[in-house]
Amino acid sequence: MPVPFVDLQAQYRSIKAEVDAAIQRVLDTSAFILGREVEAFERAFAEYVGAGECVGVSNGTAAIQLALQACGVGPGDEVIVPANTFFATAEAVSTAGATPVFVDCDPVTYNLDPNKIEEVITERTRAVIPVHLYGQPADLDAVFEAAERHNLLVFEDAAQAHGARYKGGRVGARGVAGCFSFYPGKNLGAYGEGGAVVTDDAEGARRLRMLRDHGSEQKYRHELVGYNFRLEGIQGAVLNVKLKHLDDWNALRRQHAARYRELLAPLADSGALALPFEADYAEHVYHLFVIQTEERDSLQRYLSAAGVQTGIHYPVPVHLQPAYAALSHREGDFPNAEAQAQRVLSLPMFAELNGHQLKYVADALADFYAEAAAAAG
Ligand SMILES: *Cc1c(COP(=O)(O)O)cnc(C)c1O
Repeated sequence: MPVPFVDLQAQYRSIKAEVDAAIQRVLDTSAFILGREVEAFERAFAEYVGAGECVGVSNGTAAIQLALQACGVGPGDEVIVPANTFFATAEAVSTAGATPVFVDCDPVTYNLDPNKIEEVITERTRAVIPVHLYGQPADLDAVFEAAERHNLLVFEDAAQAHGARYKGGRVGARGVAGCFSFYPGKNLGAYGEGGAVVTDDAEGARRLRMLRDHGSEQKYRHELVGYNFRLEGIQGAVLNVKLKHLDDWNALRRQHAARYRELLAPLADSGALALPFEADYAEHVYHLFVIQTEERDSLQRYLSAAGVQTGIHYPVPVHLQPAYAALSHREGDFPNAEAQAQRVLSLPMFAELNGHQLKYVADALADFYAEAAAAAG
């Protein structure tokens, strides 16, 4: 039975009538860039997250870059980011003109280790970006405690955690800005590129709106040099439809995670693999269901031959990427992030996953370890 890693077609089929009608409204009004559908989505998403304002932008990377720039973070500044994240977190710091400074992650939650923040603070440090990796909120109380002690701004990278809660509140709403990606495979995904910044700072939101649209508030009057980082009308319309389903989809992801846990418990108990850890402060939304195992590469090949698509998030930590060679990091600098890169494997995870598929994936994992044990004699 082939089991895809994500199935965007299945999701589209489940909301086709609503989505088609929403896209048709954009076609009928030709409001292709920003416009009413985007504004309606911005209001709905701000309310959903529990923030005062939402500014739709062209993608999640642009969201992080603009959030930093709207707060005046730029050349000469250092911004602390986890070494184990998607490259874009650090990249956006660089394109804002600042320098990313890496810290290691907690080996159990995979999120930035708040105890490591103080070790890398210099007089140039302006901000820290906790990433809610795989859909699990970072330990925000501990991050804010360190940030407040040293006057750092906190920007949340919530690109993988739409709707996740930290001690009851949705992620993204607590930092000076929360940055989201609507890349199609994310928990809330557009039908193309999309992103947003949420904030309680009305003046910051005004600067974000200018920065995303050529530094302009009023047509052909440019207050500053900005960017063309606008959200498209069709994406706003699609996102508005999909936002209404997000809580249901996240609940299904959590159910699937619980089922994986049940099915994989014997392998976890025997020490063959480690299941994701859910911190007691976190409501994880399982953007990814990530296991750890010493046999990661051979397991991935075995599952692939059985028709099960998996992913590795991420095979090379950011501090060891060629793009950051100039920062002169070397292997051993962030041992937890490096070990994670060797051992993690993401299993199929999406709301429309069914019971047969879950069972098939778990059985394939059990077969792999049984065959490995038999071969070891
Ligand atoms: C997806 C992602 C981004 C970037 O979002 P894009 O919309 O692809 O630009 C940033 N940070 C993290 C953690 C992500 O997963």
